[in-house]
Amino acid sequence: MQMSEKDVAALVKEISGSDVKKCMKCGKCSATCPAYGEMRFHPHQFVAMVARGRVEELLKDPTVTRCLSCFACVERCPRGVEPANVVAAIRVLAEREQEGNNFSPADVPKLLSQDPEIPQQALVSAFRKYRK
Ligand code: SF4
Ligand code: SF4
Repeated sequence: MQMSEKDVAALVKEISGSDVKKCMKCGKCSATCPAYGEMRFHPHQFVAMVARGRVEELLKDPTVTRCLSCFACVERCPRGVEPANVVAAIRVLAEREQEGNNFSPADVPKLLSQDPEIPQQALVSAFRKYRK
C-alpha cells in the first residue's frame, strides 16, 4: 500500500528522532551549513517542510546527498532540533525508494570473504540504507 505524504513525514520524524515543531525558524542552521550552496533545500527548509508534512519534493531532490553530515547545524540550533538528522532520514528513505530491499544478512559472509578488512560501520550503514 502506498503511504501518504503525511505518513512519510511522520516516518521521517520517527527515523530522525527530531522534534521539528520546536523549530523557531531562526535560520541559524542554514547560515552555518557549509553545503548551503550545493543543496537545493537548506537545513531550516528540511525542518519546516517535514513539520508541514511536505516531503515529496525533498525525497526527489538529488542534492540531498551533498550534505556533509558535519553536524554544524546541530551544534548551532538553539532549540535542539537536530536538522542534520532530518536530512539524513530523508536521504535514507530516498535511497530505500531507489534501491529497494537488496541487501540481506545472507550477503555478509560473501562480502567479508571478498574484503575481510571491510569496516563494520560500512555494513551497518548499508543495512540502514538498503533494507526496509
Ligand atoms: S550536517 Fe549537512 S545540513 Fe547540517 S550543516 Fe552539515 S552539511 Fe549542512
Ligand atoms: S537553527 Fe534550529 S530553530 Fe533555528 S531554523 Fe534551524 S532548526 Fe529551526
